[in-house]
Amino acid sequence: MKKVYLDNNATTRMREEVLEAMMPYMTNVYGNASSVHAFGREARLAVDGARQKVADFLGASSKEEVVFTSGGTESDNLAIKGALRALKAKSGHIITSDVEHHAVLNVFKFLEREGFEVTYLGVDKDGAVRPDDLKTVMRKETIFVSLMWANNETGAISRISELSKIAKSGGAIFHTDAVQAAGKLPFAVRDFGIDLLSISAHKINGPKGVGALYIRKGTKIAPQMLGGHHEMGKRAGTENVAGIVGFGRAAELAGSELAAESKKLVDLRDHLYDGISSRIDHTRLNGHSSDRLPNTLNISFKYLEGESIVLNLDMEGVAVSTGSACTSGTLEPSHVLTAMGVEPVDAQGSIRFSLGRDTTKEDIDYVLDVLPPIIKRLRDMSPLYEKGK
Ligand code: PLP
Repeated sequence: MKKVYLDNNATTRMREEVLEAMMPYMTNVYGNASSVHAFGREARLAVDGARQKVADFLGASSKEEVVFTSGGTESDNLAIKGALRALKAKSGHIITSDVEHHAVLNVFKFLEREGFEVTYLGVDKDGAVRPDDLKTVMRKETIFVSLMWANNETGAISRISELSKIAKSGGAIFHTDAVQAAGKLPFAVRDFGIDLLSISAHKINGPKGVGALYIRKGTKIAPQMLGGHHEMGKRAGTENVAGIVGFGRAAELAGSELAAESKKLVDLRDHLYDGISSRIDHTRLNGHSSDRLPNTLNISFKYLEGESIVLNLDMEGVAVSTGSACTSGTLEPSHVLTAMGVEPVDAQGSIRFSLGRDTTKEDIDYVLDVLPPIIKRLRDMSPLYEKGK
């Protein structure tokens, strides 16, 4: 059976070039990067080389602004908790949005329980944070703002440069979760005045379990993992040398191919959307028609449950994911789609197609062949469809 992977916002296939770069560090070059002998120095050199590559990829001013972590989740936690801890703040006003990844949202909920006052910003109908809304809620006591650059479910892009300016001019520290934006949108972080920015290797065809936090020079961060003096004293723990080297190589490749890849992805994504909307009725595109991540398409198939579509596509060899999360046995609509004003009944039937560098036109044509009969069969069984059509 043909296999088509359209879940690249969840994770991507690691590239051969990345594995090749990592191999020596999983075999012969096994020194601890903190050791002073030749084995250690070789590992240190590799980590620092990768740090430079990630710094170049992000457009940082120097490699010392990049701290390696275990992934996007840890980078988000370190940014938010680490910056507030460095301020010695136990309370105060902090801001985020309703559509953040849980790696940010759950940290803010935790801080709220600890005594911080949190404002959760809503989004427009396309899923982007409105800069004017941030302006309205900023106060002189606001100490920290975290707003994601691009959304993992819908691909919605927020105007980070403007948002960062507003937060900074109000005296707050500004963090952005750029886990989905990195490698898909061109940017140089030094031009944006951003203090803290999170990324993850496995979203850019690198290995799992490695990420980075960009920490603008002068921004204070208290380590959240305590131990040795690794990562310039900001994140203790022996470095994952092979993973970091793979991350560096993946970043280098993603940076150099970004423009060509984006164009290819937009064409394929729009081919998929055109095919779906011409073959299947009662659908709804969730997100802006063009201004969103080049690889992401989120569609509601009305009168259906997303999970049943995912399972039926899986049986045809197609991997996608639902925009709604299954929480403890009850099907809860996605917090992202709900925040955009999508009716719960539409949010339930939403599917995220996220394309990647391996996606081909044949893959998309295969999905366009197998999807319409699945939707028809499921709708024929759906009591909601009978009532609604
Ligand atoms: N932030 C966003 C926007 C994401 O999409 C993800 C992963 O899905 C994360 C954070 C977490 O990254 P990681 O899987 O590396 O912990």
